[in-house]
Amino acid sequence: MFEFRVITIFPELFESFREASLIGKAGSKELLKVKPIDLRDFTDDRHRTVDDAPYGGGSGMVMKAEPIFKALEKNEGCHKVLLTPQGAPLTQKIAHRLAGQSPLLLFCGRYEGVDERARGAFDEEISIGDFVLNGGEVAAMAVIEVVSRLIPGVLGNSESIVEESFSLGALEYPQYTRPEMFDGASVPHVLLSGNHKRVQDWRRGQALLRTRDRRPDLFEKLELSQLDRNLLEQAIEDKDK
Ligand code: SAM
Repeated sequence: MFEFRVITIFPELFESFREASLIGKAGSKELLKVKPIDLRDFTDDRHRTVDDAPYGGGSGMVMKAEPIFKALEKNEGCHKVLLTPQGAPLTQKIAHRLAGQSPLLLFCGRYEGVDERARGAFDEEISIGDFVLNGGEVAAMAVIEVVSRLIPGVLGNSESIVEESFSLGALEYPQYTRPEMFDGASVPHVLLSGNHKRVQDWRRGQALLRTRDRRPDLFEKLELSQLDRNLLEQAIEDKDK
């Protein structure tokens, strides 16, 4: 069973998160477990203090190193991740690696972040994007969602992982469901053809076109075969029709 341990001062935020949807189902099948750990349990003063004013002055509070070290010591043997906007941006590739690193410990910062001396106690630092959240809890949930999709058995259909955006270096093709005609727009004909090969080719062409238009940075890194080039050309033609 894959184990996520989350150190936080708001363990209650994880209660419904770990019971609902795919994470909840995977939990009841014992494929994974999400264990929130209250950082305040590692304090020894009456107020269970985890923060203090910054040396040198300035606004906000800083998370004290001592409770962090104590909490990490108690969870020796985990792969320890500090969630911080200053970390490496989370990618599908990093998620694949993390999916092999159970028990995975995610530390959620609050306030102005952690005392610099605590940072060295982590194996790595991860950011979920170039923006600043109030705390690491939503970031931890994002990591859990991304990694749990890659744990065998969590998704009903494991093909969806392979075809999904980023897994093949490109964005996923457009998807449609019933009805066939909606608000004057119809489903592309090829998807109704029942011809598996044609559907596959159309999807590849659309995925390439979408990646070229929306994420030129990803498109540049793709190694396109001759077939890919032809399918992309066809997709461009279809678009211009
Ligand atoms: N003062 C910090 C800085 O500028 O780097 C930001 C602190 S933020 C208000 C509080 C906590 O939220 C951080 O310690 C971190 O755990 C979490 N956090 C905020 N943005 C994040 C992001 N983009 N990715 C991961 N964690 C984030």
